[in-house]
Amino acid sequence: VPELPEVETVRRGLERSVVGRTVAAVEVRHPRATRRHVAGDADFAARLRGRRIEAARRRGKYLWFPLDSGDALIAHLGMSGQFRLVERDAPDEPHLRVRLGFADGGPQLRFIDQRTFGGLSVVDGGAGVPGMLRHLAADPLDGEFDDDAFIASLRRRRTGLKRALLDQSLISGIGNIYADESLWRARLHYARATDALRRSDALRLLAAVRAVLGAALSDGGTTFDGLYVDVNGASGWFSTRLAVYGRAGQPCLRCGSLVRRETFMNRSSYLCPRCQPRPRRPRW
Ligand SMILES: [Zn+2]
Repeated sequence: VPELPEVETVRRGLERSVVGRTVAAVEVRHPRATRRHVAGDADFAARLRGRRIEAARRRGKYLWFPLDSGDALIAHLGMSGQFRLVERDAPDEPHLRVRLGFADGGPQLRFIDQRTFGGLSVVDGGAGVPGMLRHLAADPLDGEFDDDAFIASLRRRRTGLKRALLDQSLISGIGNIYADESLWRARLHYARATDALRRSDALRLLAAVRAVLGAALSDGGTTFDGLYVDVNGASGWFSTRLAVYGRAGQPCLRCGSLVRRETFMNRSSYLCPRCQPRPRRPRW
């Protein structure tokens, strides 16, 4: 599943490769890819054709591209979505869902999605973040992120720390892998009660989140199942540097205790039992 660093890597790739170009042709190859565009494929294509892409932006794991019409193209990669920039005569990929051709005759932008949980839609634009993305909180790599406001809302919740990190209305873009890595780095158990968290713990956690996301970003993101690639098809290699995630039974890189895998929220959580002791009053 692409997480925030992967999506940011994709955004940067698209910023270099499609911004300033005018869409000339739109082909929707699978209806599921545009299911969120409720007005249908013909409307989707009509609102893109002839429009110049003005920018490539991101909120959490959503990408959006303001168009010169005032509309915006919104993309979500879902479980396995990829953008590929390929020459026009390159053969179609097996899971090609949407193809955009450009007026300059240069490489096409192809949206490929094996599991089809991702998708594209065009929405009314205007300035700022599109309406359908405004419910998402900023992420800690975003200049608009407010540390004090985050810490205050974190301590107002009566929940567990990992559940809070995965709550997109509180802090966006952190998935399972980066939550585990950040909690390990900050030496905090995932079931620590958010309302009992000290400010120093919260600040250490934020610093850990930024360090983990920043490292992943500079490496081009994490790859686990081979489905994620960046805009040119190159895989990230951050997975080789994960400290706890996927390392059950191996020694903690800090203290040597064996990393443990536990099931939480129907997913695997990895932690060091010594560095991240279970709280006396856990919250789940
Ligand atoms: Zn440890």
